Amino acid sequence: MIIWGSGGDSVDFGVAETHHCETCEKERPYRLVLHYRYWGFYWVFNRVTKKQYAMICDICGRGWEIESSKIEPLLDTAPIPFMRRYGLAILGGIFAIFMVMAALEKH
Ligand SMILES: [Zn+2]
Repeated sequence: MIIWGSGGDSVDFGVAETHHCETCEKERPYRLVLHYRYWGFYWVFNRVTKKQYAMICDICGRGWEIESSKIEPLLDTAPIPFMRRYGLAILGGIFAIFMVMAALEKH
């Protein structure tokens, strides 16, 4: 039986900056948050299907989206677990190796 499915998770990087919040009408600490979704087999072999970074006011929860290309070079750790990013690619690699081995055994 092949099991596949999708899930979502978020990563909180903590307070990154302070900004004037339109809703609070005050200077507020803003958190950098990453929301992402992934899809894959057996909850292990996944790939990321959607990524969205946002700056969120720590008090009222409002904020704005940030393009990942602008923020990712500034982050020093990969925020998404390895197997959620590259698991599906690894599964493809394992499958390719088995195909080659099966092909070699026929000869
Ligand atoms: Zn606010």
